[in-house]
Amino acid sequence: MHSTSDILDIRQVEKSKIDQVDFDNLAFGKNYADHMMVCDYKDGAWQKPKILPYGPMEFEPSAKVFHYGQAVFEGMKAFKDENNKVWLFRPEENFNRINISSKRMAIPEFPKDYFFAALETLLKLDEKWVHPGDGNSLYIRPFVIASENGVSASPSNEYKFMIICCPAKAYYNSPVKVLVADHYSRSADGGVGFAKAAGNYGAQFYPTNLANEKGYQQIIWTDSNSHKYLEEAGTMNLFFRINDKLITAPTSDRILDGVTRKSIIDLARHQGVEVEVRKITVEELVSAAVDGSLKEIFGTGTAATIAFIEGFEYADKYHDLPQIENPYSLRFKKGLQDIQYNRAEDPFGWRYEV
Ligand code: PMP
Repeated sequence: MHSTSDILDIRQVEKSKIDQVDFDNLAFGKNYADHMMVCDYKDGAWQKPKILPYGPMEFEPSAKVFHYGQAVFEGMKAFKDENNKVWLFRPEENFNRINISSKRMAIPEFPKDYFFAALETLLKLDEKWVHPGDGNSLYIRPFVIASENGVSASPSNEYKFMIICCPAKAYYNSPVKVLVADHYSRSADGGVGFAKAAGNYGAQFYPTNLANEKGYQQIIWTDSNSHKYLEEAGTMNLFFRINDKLITAPTSDRILDGVTRKSIIDLARHQGVEVEVRKITVEELVSAAVDGSLKEIFGTGTAATIAFIEGFEYADKYHDLPQIENPYSLRFKKGLQDIQYNRAEDPFGWRYEV
């Protein structure tokens, strides 16, 4: 337990809003837990973090984030077990990744003791917002924005690191149809694809809207140079099962190093499934779909956990995936959730007790 008032200033809500929330009919992202963390960077240093009631904030219209998009974020979840204990899943990975993202966006790195003290304090204060039960969780959104005023294109000298939390139920739980990109790109070599930079997501909305209009929920991005190699989708990394082997693209400048992805690689190998981390071409995918060796495609990410993909379109042709018994996607989803909800041994040391 790292959280002490030496590290943080805490101002609690007078009255919790939790009674206003219908946990059975949650619209993801519409309700926020009572408290948030705000930490200012100024005069060359991160100041003392504050835990405050969740609520609106004031910014001047000239704040740099609105003009130059210096903004990064993370997504992580807290789970409650049957004994009402709260657990995080590999939070150190998210801590490291937000600093990797920050560095690429010329944002100063955040101290580890602040991050963990804030997380643990928020989860203790808002413990009731973590609902037990499969698929339920508290989604945690750490983010950093450039808050200095000034419409000159240069890195901000002031930032806000914040953490907000919202209750979540399992989402993307119905199978999705995806379109393989052959024109638009999500990221490029030497670019910011590996960072959770806000603009990466804003830039996906337009091509994703076009895909939605054609009946596809997501796009499978391909490399920007040739559109030949399969990369990732929306906010998920991808796994392709050809016969009994799993294949996932190696992470790169262009691909986010997903925590769920690396966990599934380890879990699958632990269960004796062969996993190849290598480039995979659209051509290989299409020919595996045609000859029947393509058994599954699934996406992995904190929000979705595992999303089943039922078919994909490439070059105006739709390929349906077969319905198979005991799919890997279900098996690994269960394996992962058993660890996250403290229902099984955790041979990897992934669970983090709050
Ligand atoms: N790719 C992208 C682009 C993402 O935004 C995410 C979500 N963070 C992922 C993959 C999956 O990463 P994780 O498993 O760490 O949530």
